[in-house]
Amino acid sequence: MTDMPTRRVILAVGTLAATSLLRPHRSFAQAPLVATPECHDGDPVTLHETEGPFFKPASAQRTELFEAGMPGRPMELVGFVFSRHCKPLSGALLDFWQADDNGEYDNSGFRLRGHQFTDTQGRFRLRSIVPGAYEGRTRHVHVKVQAPGARLLTTQLYFPGERKNRSDGLFRRELLTRTAERSGSLAARFDFVLDVA
Ligand code: FE
Repeated sequence: MTDMPTRRVILAVGTLAATSLLRPHRSFAQAPLVATPECHDGDPVTLHETEGPFFKPASAQRTELFEAGMPGRPMELVGFVFSRHCKPLSGALLDFWQADDNGEYDNSGFRLRGHQFTDTQGRFRLRSIVPGAYEGRTRHVHVKVQAPGARLLTTQLYFPGERKNRSDGLFRRELLTRTAERSGSLAARFDFVLDVA
């Protein structure tokens, strides 16, 4: 009985991989990385981090932030939203915003900003570019995550192997994505654990 959520997660990841391979979008990475469950009962909840000065409410609902001609390395970020007990949470909101390749935010419009909801298996998928680093900050993606009826989590995700990770006071290892290079694009994976049962 207790291993049922784990089994569900394995199935879900398998489906995600299969879907990814069928996708004709060749400029993007064929994520995800490893078809193993990423959540264990008792895992710590995802750390909160400051929202910073560049959040804007009312972004469009979209999974595709990449636009034709946009400079930067394509990135596909995928993962799950889990409860504390590893239950995949469907219908959870993820609102992403990030800097462009030059480390600049679009503060007048909504470039590189968008929200989406996890599917029935608790999965999300974001297509974007690798964010540029900027003054005092290593590369990062901002996100707000909220499951229906749960508290809002505001945090930031990071990338392994970045020189500036060591000098950025906000950087946390716990918020590192796992990444793989795929012919000029980056596949990144991160699973959120929310403080809900
Ligand atoms: Fe930022």
